[in-house]
Order: sequence, then C-alpha cells, then structure tokens
Amino acid sequence: MRATDATTGEALLIVGAGVAGLSLAIALGRAGIRVTVIDGASRPQTPADGRDINDWDLRVSALTPASVAFLDDLGAWSQIPENRKACYTGMQVWDAQGSGRIDFNARDVQTPSLGHIVENRLTLQALLTCAESCPQVEVLWEHGLSAMTFIDGGWEIGCDGGKIFRAALVVGADGARSRVRELTAMPVRQWSYDQSAIVGTVALATHHLDSCWQAFLDTGPLALLPLADDRKVAMVWSLDDSAHPAIAELNDEAFLRALNRALGPEAPTACQVGPRASFPLRQCHAVDYVEQGLVLVADAAHSIHPLAGQGINLGLSDVRVLSEQLIAAKTHGLTVASPTLLKRYQRQRKTENLAMMAAMEGFKRGFGSRQPLAVMARNMGLNWVDQRSWLKRWFMKQALS
Ligand SMILES: Cc1cc2nc3c(=O)[nH]c(=O)nc-3n(C[C@H](O)[C@H](O)[C@H](O)COP(=O)(O)OP(=O)(O)OC[C@H]3O[C@@H](n4cnc5c(N)ncnc54)[C@H](O)[C@@H]3O)c2cc1C
Repeated sequence: MRATDATTGEALLIVGAGVAGLSLAIALGRAGIRVTVIDGASRPQTPADGRDINDWDLRVSALTPASVAFLDDLGAWSQIPENRKACYTGMQVWDAQGSGRIDFNARDVQTPSLGHIVENRLTLQALLTCAESCPQVEVLWEHGLSAMTFIDGGWEIGCDGGKIFRAALVVGADGARSRVRELTAMPVRQWSYDQSAIVGTVALATHHLDSCWQAFLDTGPLALLPLADDRKVAMVWSLDDSAHPAIAELNDEAFLRALNRALGPEAPTACQVGPRASFPLRQCHAVDYVEQGLVLVADAAHSIHPLAGQGINLGLSDVRVLSEQLIAAKTHGLTVASPTLLKRYQRQRKTENLAMMAAMEGFKRGFGSRQPLAVMARNMGLNWVDQRSWLKRWFMKQALS
C-alpha cells in the first residue's frame, strides 16, 4: 500500500484531472497543501496549433469573466495562447418558430466582453502546465479509480493496476458519470433531457462579428460560438432523440444544408463543417455534495443542459469556494476533512447551482413546447425583454457573475 502522506493521515486525493480537478489542485498546492490527483486517462497531448478546420477541439467552453479571473489567479489564463482565446461582445438569441428575438451587447453593461470561448483541451493544457510546475501537486495519469473503502477514519482508494492510496479527504472531480459518486452510493436526482448534442467546428461565409448565435428550434437549441478565427465557430446543436439520428448520420454536404436551413436568415451562412461528435444530455444533481471525508465538485456534483454554456463556470465557482474552505481549515489548524467547512461549501454552492438548474429546466421546457399559445407567449416575451434595456442589463449582469 502506498500512502500519499502517511505521517499525518491528512492526505488529500482528487479523482479526476479535468478542468475542475486540476484547478482545485493548483489553488490548494499554491497555498501549501499537498495534493495527489489521479486520472484514468493518458496524459493529454499538446494540442495542434494549426488553423485547419480539423485542428480545433470539438469541445469548447464559454468562460464568464468570473471564470477567466479565477483561471488568471491560478496562473493558467496567460498560458493559453492569445490567438486561441475568442473574446465575444454580443449574443443574438431568436425563436426559429416565430419572430421573437433578443440581442445582448457588452456595451449595454459597459464591459469590454461578455466572456471568452476557449477550446477545452487548451484550458486543460494550461492548467496542466501550472499543476506540473507546482511542487505540492502530483498528477498521476492512467490511475483509474476502481474501489473505495472507508476504514479507520479515512478512505482507502484502489486504482486500476492495483495501486492503493489512503486519504483523509477524497474530492470527486471525475465528471458527470462520477465513479466516486457511484462507489460511495451518493444519491442523485437525475433525468434525461431526451436530447443529444452534436458538436463540431464550422467555417462561415462571413465574419462571426464576435457574437454567439443561438436559435431555439422546435427540436432543441442550436448555438454557434465564435472562435479566435473570425470565420470559424464552434457548433453545439442539441436535438431531441427523435430528430438526432437523422441529422447526426448526414454526410458533410447534407449536414451543411440542414444546418443552414435550421439557422435561417438570422445567422451567418455556414460553408464548411469539420468532424462531429455527439453527447447525450442529462440533468444530474447529487442530493448531497459532502459525506464523511468526501466531497463532490463540478460535473460530479451537477451536470446541466449546455444551452446556457454554464457547466464549467458553475464548476469553477465550486472549486473557488471549496479551495477557500480547505485553505481556511489549514489556516485554523483544522483537519482538511472538517465537516463544518465542507458543509459550508455545500450550503454556498448548492443554492446557486440549483437556481441555475431550475432556470435551464424552465428554458428547456418553455422553448421545447410546440403549443401555439406557448410559441406566441415566448415570442412576445423575447421581444418584450429585448425592448427593456434595464431588464437586458439585469440578465447580462447575472450571466457575467
Ligand atoms: C455538448 C456540451 C457542450 C458544453 N458546452 C459548455 C460551455 O459552453 N460552457 C460550459 O461552461 N460548459 C459546457 N459544457 C459542460 C462542460 O464541458 C463540463 O461542465 C466540464 O467539462 C466539466 O468539467 P469537470 O472537470 O467537472 O469534468 P470532466 O471534464 O468530465 O473531467 C473529469 C475527469 O475525470 C476523469 N475520470 C473519469 N472517471 C475516472 C475514474 N474512474 N478514475 C479516475 N479519473 C476519472 C476523466 O478522465 C476526466 O479527466 C458542455 C457540455 C457538453 C456535453
């Protein structure tokens, strides 16, 4: 058996070296807390830096200014090449079944940007560079979690390959299908959205105008997110399970035609599409984020519909609050597994996460309806909000925080 810190029994083990796991490790490592991170995958390769449509990561995230500021504090933001960060200043949202439309602009809230679109693998690579240069952090790839036993007041962690660790606190940062959650039987409330998202890179005939474009179709929302090439966007096309296979199986030419038909005249025309991948969409929320010596963060605690692009932003807020509590434990000489501090993290984060999940559910149901009255009401609603600058400003301030 190998212990991460056998002398104190205070070892802290993070399962999952995704954006959430690595950012937590860096925040703690920089505060002098020793951390081991295990991940079942191989160490990610350095991403290609070409400009070909095939060189862009299929997975991107719309990072809010608050997330960017946090990544900057960790030293990771400056590690992402400038020519791969797309600052966006506008967001155009419309109902493809009617005439409802809202345009948001950074100018309305006197801010230089509404956020940045960054490829996930670049964010990950930047965090990995920071983690690997932090002496307090050890990242072990190809160490998939396979067993967990609570014994003598701590966790015994078994990995694929047979290695065993002991930890006073285990952080589950292992994503939406969290094995930590499963092995410890932490209850969740979950349901399928009965939709899958097709993601891919799309080349446009014209400039993307540094704007996000989102159409609400009767089969689900379709978003184009501007990349750091003014004629390329990342597409996230969520489709009801009844409509998804027919679109997912189209060849490039037929897919482009379907995409342009779905976008209509409101958005720039797509002229080329790269490889595509599909993700089934589920809403999942752990009933509790905290158990004895155990805490869940980010997608392991909650996963939501990508329509508002909030997944990793909520995850980074979890990480910020949890790291503050764990650093406070160290400052006050408490155990890292202090139930009081872990519960404080849960209280703070659950409220915000639940509010966002409820809002996304409302959006999804409201825009999923084909009832003529519901269609009319939401079109009137979109136009009504669009004409009230104070209300638009309020929406934008919520989204930026
Ligand atoms: C189609 C789509 C579009 C999205 N768009 C956006 C967007 O625009 N903005 C946004 O904020 N969010 C978006 N999201 C959500 C965002 O991708 C997630 O919130 C984010 O990736 C979660 O990060 P994480 O670190 O919690 O988990 P993950 O990124 O899933 O990382 C989990 C890590 O744990 C590891 N792991 C898993 N199991 C084990 C195991 N048994 N043992 C050891 N390691 C393990 C994995 O290898 C991985 O490295 C989108 C999601 C989807 C599906």
